[in-house]
Amino acid sequence: MVVRQSIKKEIFLVFFLVFLGAFFVYVYKSAMLSQKEIFQHIQKNKINEYSQIFDNFTKCLANSHAIATKKELFNFLKNKKERQKHEKILSLLNTDEVKYIYILQKDDKGRFRFLLDASKEDKAHFYQKFDVSNKKYIELYKTKHPQIIDQTNIKNLYLTYLYPIIVNNNIIAIASVDISTKFKSDIAESMDSFKILFRYLIFLIFLVIAIMSIYIFYYYLSRKKLFTDPLTKVFNRNYMQEIKSSLNLNNYAIAMVDLDRFKTVNDTYGHKAGDYVLAQCAKIIKDSLRDNDILIRFGGEEFLILLYVRGNTKSAISISKRVKENIAKFKFVFETQEILMSASIGLNIHPSESKHLDEAIKIADKKLYIAKQNGRNQVVSSLSERSQILENNQIKDIDFVKRAIDENRVVCYFQPIYDVKTNTIIKYEALVRIIDIDGTVISPFFFLPYIQYTNIHFKLTKRIFNICFEAVKTIQNYISININYSDLINEDIEKFIVNNLKDNHKLASRITFEILETDEITNIELFIQKIDILHSMGCSISIDDFGSGYSNFKTVLDMEADYLKIDGTLVKNIDKDEKSYRVVKNIIQFAKDSSMKTIAEFVHSKEVYDKLLELDVDYVQGFYISEPKPITSLAL
Ligand code: GH3
Ligand code: MG
Ligand code: MG
Repeated sequence: MVVRQSIKKEIFLVFFLVFLGAFFVYVYKSAMLSQKEIFQHIQKNKINEYSQIFDNFTKCLANSHAIATKKELFNFLKNKKERQKHEKILSLLNTDEVKYIYILQKDDKGRFRFLLDASKEDKAHFYQKFDVSNKKYIELYKTKHPQIIDQTNIKNLYLTYLYPIIVNNNIIAIASVDISTKFKSDIAESMDSFKILFRYLIFLIFLVIAIMSIYIFYYYLSRKKLFTDPLTKVFNRNYMQEIKSSLNLNNYAIAMVDLDRFKTVNDTYGHKAGDYVLAQCAKIIKDSLRDNDILIRFGGEEFLILLYVRGNTKSAISISKRVKENIAKFKFVFETQEILMSASIGLNIHPSESKHLDEAIKIADKKLYIAKQNGRNQVVSSLSERSQILENNQIKDIDFVKRAIDENRVVCYFQPIYDVKTNTIIKYEALVRIIDIDGTVISPFFFLPYIQYTNIHFKLTKRIFNICFEAVKTIQNYISININYSDLINEDIEKFIVNNLKDNHKLASRITFEILETDEITNIELFIQKIDILHSMGCSISIDDFGSGYSNFKTVLDMEADYLKIDGTLVKNIDKDEKSYRVVKNIIQFAKDSSMKTIAEFVHSKEVYDKLLELDVDYVQGFYISEPKPITSLAL
């Protein structure tokens, strides 16, 4: 669309030049035609002039010399003096353009003979024979009218004008004038500069057209390349930047498509298989769209669709669902391997409510995030209650966290973990907060999910560790720090931890790493190996949020954790919900059997606390004991 728009000017220019070229060709042709007409006009005038002179000549013969017959004329001109005198009269016609001028007469045998020759050169003598083959001579006798002979075969001659000398209605002789080609070339010459100028102009215009056409062609090619993703052959992000300003958001809905667990395709079947699936998915999406929709490869395995729906929200949803379904039902086959793929789609049906495209995309992205959270392979276009909360609280994005890190506004709040047997605080869990510019304390709920897997997340993790390592020294107590799988396997973070703790056993032994055991752990061996490194430095390990996911008990045991933290969703209703009670009871038993100490989080009331005592939990954490507080407010 915009490719066309951006070369519109050039195409218009080419059309203009073609038109101009055609106009010049037309003018040139017309000029040539007028040249012919001018020429014919001049020729006619010349011939009239000759006719006038020959007419006078005839009158002179008839009136002044009383010549009435062929014979009398012959006798008259036989006289050399008369001949010379009349040759002089006729030679008045002798200009540059006239080659020969003479009077002919038919003899008794019908042959033509010179009576007089007023030519400048090659003069014929009196009564010299003149061979005639042209029919125009016969025509002249027949019609008694002057005749014009086009002299195409005689060198330097252009035409011959034959004029009958008629006295008493009888042709007594023929006056003839041969006009040279100079006559024609003189006229042509006067047009030459004009012709050359036009030819140059036309040549120049067509040269410019040719150059412009080549330029447009290459321009088009290079722009196409600039805007096309080489793997999927759909538009790339450059194209989005290009159309951004001209896009009318009122006409579009924005769908953000992200392939589900695409990384596992790469990891399982190889990068080539991943490439194949990506290219094929692009094709499936493209085939599911209409001509007016715009498909852009937004990032690795993310596609942005600008659906041309003009406010028809239903069609935006149905097309998005079609895209999702077509991907899910397609059997991808790579080198005999059958691969299944699905996609999650975040759909912003009212992008015009956003200030600009980037903001509208962000909203689609948030919905995509919710589609992922809700179990993938689905289209999310409206927001659930939970999502609304996120919306209203304005999700803090990457830039927000980046600025907070740069401006030193990342802090940790500390929440005590309480030993129910000794009634003492045994350690504090560090919980990240960002202090907003206006002083509001922002909980990680509003920013952590949105920086996951980004470099900023790793940067934030390092900042938190720094704060915690310093805090351990300040509060002279034990501290629990959260770490997730992607942090754990990140080499940069590993190096950072090792550098800080390797030679500081005292510090290391005061630190517990709380690790979330999720289904995102794709490489168990690597995971266990990293946990071993933490153990070997003297740190303790706690399994976080146990019971919230679908924990693999073998992995849990392989982790050889020191603590097992029971998920808050199970703990908070333990006093009312029989099932939760039983699950917690079993978890505590499992932990004891596996030599792990148990921590119950989310302990918010005395009732819950008492139930946990009943179940012989080791430690508790929650508002009932204390809420998280800044380091300065801790009663140490
Ligand atoms: P989720 O369902 O949460 O989206 O999981 P995911 O695995 O699809 O998402 P994630 O962002 O973790 O992984 C995307 C992967 O896509 C990582 C990257 O290596 C891969 N990828 C990005 N571009 C290409 C590409 O051009 N070719 C191939 N083969 N892989 C790519
Ligand atoms: Mg992704
Ligand atoms: Mg994905």
